[in-house]
Amino acid sequence: MTLRILAIVLAVLAASTLGAVDVCGQDMLTVIYDDGRQPDEIPVWQLEKDSEELFLRANDVAKIFKATQFWNASTRKVILGIHKSRFTITVDTRVVVIDGDPIMLRSDIRYESGFVMIPMEFVLDLVPPYTLRALTWDPSARTLSVDKVGYNVAGLTFATTDDRSTATIELTEPLIHHVDSNTPGLVRLKIYGGRVDPAKFLVREAHGLFDGVRAEQTDRDAYVYFDIKRYTSRVVVEQDETPPRIRVVLEKGDLPEIPEPDFAGKKQVEVVDRRAVEHRRLRIRKIVIDPGHGGKDDGKIGVTGVLEKDVNLEVAKKTREALRRSVGVEVVLTREDDRLLSLTRRTEIANELEADLFISIHCNSWFSPETGGFEAYFLSPAKTEWDRAVAMAENAADDYLRPASDAGSDIDFILWDIVQNEYINESSHLAELIQIAMNDRLGLRDRGVKQAGFTVLQGARMPAVLIETGFLSNPEEERLLADPEFQAKVADGIVEAVKKFKARYE
Ligand SMILES: [Zn+2]
Repeated sequence: MTLRILAIVLAVLAASTLGAVDVCGQDMLTVIYDDGRQPDEIPVWQLEKDSEELFLRANDVAKIFKATQFWNASTRKVILGIHKSRFTITVDTRVVVIDGDPIMLRSDIRYESGFVMIPMEFVLDLVPPYTLRALTWDPSARTLSVDKVGYNVAGLTFATTDDRSTATIELTEPLIHHVDSNTPGLVRLKIYGGRVDPAKFLVREAHGLFDGVRAEQTDRDAYVYFDIKRYTSRVVVEQDETPPRIRVVLEKGDLPEIPEPDFAGKKQVEVVDRRAVEHRRLRIRKIVIDPGHGGKDDGKIGVTGVLEKDVNLEVAKKTREALRRSVGVEVVLTREDDRLLSLTRRTEIANELEADLFISIHCNSWFSPETGGFEAYFLSPAKTEWDRAVAMAENAADDYLRPASDAGSDIDFILWDIVQNEYINESSHLAELIQIAMNDRLGLRDRGVKQAGFTVLQGARMPAVLIETGFLSNPEEERLLADPEFQAKVADGIVEAVKKFKARYE
């Protein structure tokens, strides 16, 4: 090849990629599929000088996930329809709205030379839980592998003896569950991070005390519903680590000789979650309440200027009084006044006091004033979440120093230590109890219990949850959050949940 031809080839190559993009580096990567598609070669860019984050064009992201794509030039939004979910991203923001729920990326979505550029984090961490695909990035080989992961809630079998019936759910990996029976005749099992094929879990015929089974897949979790015979007296849920499985055991009570007419409508069965109970007995004597932010860190700022740090402190104080009064436990706040505390110090306090529970109190915020509701969080054990947590941990100090007006969620700030994993069952249970208590009291939208792969709390050796009491960006909720009566309701909800938690574990 002559130099002249080479020069032309190079010029064509440059023009066909992104001649005018303001980049620190451009590279190609190979995408390898497991579904028979030929590998793709796609360009990636490093757009930020001080960040390793790689960016892909929205078109290529759509190709990888076989997504439908819609670009609204006036609002600068891209909507990607991936699997059963809808991902909305907005240029020059870190926001991704997934089926109506906002999540933050570490970097902004960019627009360069006519292309919407999406950070690799979106592809690797954000999307996979909503698909049945796992993505693996090998930086040295510059390959991105897209693999089927299949269902981890894999199989269902039944066994029945005279007075008990057992449904065994086979898992391909250990998963956290939560069980409740608030509706008579129905047992609901929530499997965090579960992926289930509802068609495979549809059982219409009875198996002993089971009248039928159905399953539901939400964005991140699997639910299995068991219809049970009305003379079931007890539900025992047991979990094995190896092989990973969950057993739902129904025990028969005495069948009344003359059934009461409204028997089925009133009866609530006793639910025993054996793993959580037998795993460990907890004594709930001392609770540390952590009012988020403080001092020069205001936290979120409401539309009329209500400060998150103030709401958090008021709610924490009211919770302390209510817990002392009606549960009789010792309660310590991480801060009593308007002062800045490091994240490490917050958990150190809990550890030094050998607290039995840690509850961190925050308020939420979002760009749209309509968004609202209450959320409880516990830690996620999923590997992808951990990877994310580790990456975030590296930036933790910087995150903390970011201006408080940054709309970043609290999750960015909260870095849970790996040892938290040990208390995952208890933490998820406490979060569920708090969410239920708040739904009964606050009249806010139920945003559900969430798991998040954050970190902090170096070595918080106790069940720990974080609550987002409401949205300061929502004018109505901002008014409520500043209202002592509403704050008292939040405190009351925490008390109710702690009472139930205490009764269960002691
Ligand atoms: Zn906060």
